[in-house]
Amino acid sequence: MAKHFDYICIGGGSGGIASANRAAMYGAKVALVEAKALGGTCVNVGCVPKKVMWHGAQIAEAMHLYAKDYGFDVDVKGFNWSKLVESREAYIGRIHKAYDNVLGNNKIEVINGFATFVNANTIEVNGEQYTADHILIAVGGEPTIPNIPGAEHGIDSNGFFELNEQPKRTAVIGAGYIAVEIAGVLSALGTDTHLFVRKESPLRSFDPMIIETLVEVMDAEGPTLHTHSVPKEVVKEADGTFTMHFENGESHNTDLIIWAIGRHPTTDKINLAATGVETTDRGYIKVDEYQQTNVPGIYCVGDIMEGGIELTPVAVKAGRQLSERLFNNKPEAKMDYKLVPTVVFSHPPIGTIGLTEPEAIAQYGEDNIKVYKSGFTAMYTAVTQHRQPCKMKLVCAGPEETVVGLHGIGFTVDEMIQGFGVAMKMGATKADFDSVVAIHPTGSEEFVTMR
Ligand code: FAD
Ligand code: NDP
Repeated sequence: MAKHFDYICIGGGSGGIASANRAAMYGAKVALVEAKALGGTCVNVGCVPKKVMWHGAQIAEAMHLYAKDYGFDVDVKGFNWSKLVESREAYIGRIHKAYDNVLGNNKIEVINGFATFVNANTIEVNGEQYTADHILIAVGGEPTIPNIPGAEHGIDSNGFFELNEQPKRTAVIGAGYIAVEIAGVLSALGTDTHLFVRKESPLRSFDPMIIETLVEVMDAEGPTLHTHSVPKEVVKEADGTFTMHFENGESHNTDLIIWAIGRHPTTDKINLAATGVETTDRGYIKVDEYQQTNVPGIYCVGDIMEGGIELTPVAVKAGRQLSERLFNNKPEAKMDYKLVPTVVFSHPPIGTIGLTEPEAIAQYGEDNIKVYKSGFTAMYTAVTQHRQPCKMKLVCAGPEETVVGLHGIGFTVDEMIQGFGVAMKMGATKADFDSVVAIHPTGSEEFVTMR
């Protein structure tokens, strides 16, 4: 007979683990099914290893670009990529242990294996069947590889984290978070890195000020940016290198190609047809504002939900709110998808909350928008030969000048914006921002002193 649970979470990534733990804390009998490693994309092939590599790149920049003008006679004898990977993987190993402990303390049954649906309240893992009153689908996505000849010669972001040696030359293809971050890391660590975007710039959905500044810094410091480059074919050469051919007739020879052109859901693999759960044409699961699918008792959070935001804290919060609703008698608990702060760990980092200037104009009309800007050289770099710009913008709407958009790019912007997110969620106006005394000398003080 199938083992029965109150709640089964399929996928031990950001959303699944968060929801399972919260449900168990309220006494629910919970199972968590994970096919690979606990922590999912974020912990194993996403945020965590990426941030470690980014920190490594920051150290490289400090030594190569800035140390000399701070008076340090640094002689870097070398860089051991595999040592960085070893430290990174050891850290991830400790996160796995911590997750194991928390799940164990919460008495959650962790089932290792790939779940498929048998019907709307039954799943099968490793030949065993399990039933539940409530089932969460949080199976995440996987990287997309383009459908062009020779695409198999490239690797994706998962493959990037498997590299045990530093590539000498790399071509990164894509224009989103992952392409910009990986290209930035490789370039800062000394790989000859070329970033190819198919349109006019990377990060096209970001505020124009952010894009312009990012491109300006890329021009000065790398990686080498190639625009209007639509990949057509990859050819493996006799010497083991690869030549990328583009639709504009250009070509580029390199040692390694990394595809970072987006991700897609994995819902096609879980026999969703047995449940009647509706998806979009691309496989994203349709949910209402309470993460409820069209089938009672089946829910979805994270990267595979239609119209979601592919960020770990979004999956985590949606998963926790769902468990508050299902297991803590909070029928109105739900995730609020508005004003989600986000950071791109580029070089320099980007932080953004809310509407871009063009989005605000489209929503409120140009006459109802007031924009405040600040631009300066980050002090950390200003005393060196490698001066780097820092740019900030507040987009305010209506006569009250409610801050509906906040954007920054520059040294430590990644650590500046979280608190401003709180203010914006509370409906802060420009006057509220100005009412705060600045902290000096910091970069973030510019956000509360703009005129
Ligand atoms: P996932 O974390 O992908 O977890 C899904 C899990 O389900 C996986 O472990 C998978 O093995 C498992 N699974 C799939 N099918 C089954 C099945 N049938 N049975 C059992 N298990 C199954 N977000 C940020 O907020 N900040 C960042 O800095 C950041 N950096 C990123 C860098 C990279 C390179 C990538 C790829 C992503 C990054 N993200 C970042 C995005 C973030 O990782 C995702 O938004 C987040 O992991 C989504 O969580 P999830 O629970 O939806 O899915
Ligand atoms: P994104 O969807 O962010 O970006 C992929 C981009 O690649 C597209 O927007 C498109 O840009 C371009 N592209 C699409 N198809 C092709 C093609 N065939 N050839 C060339 N270029 C193409 O995907 P990512 O994989 O970068 O990241 C997935 C998500 O993971 C992100 O959206 C983000 O939510 C999350 N993430 C978050 C991070 C963070 O918080 N720091 C870090 C990494 C990922 P265009 O149309 O301009 O060409």
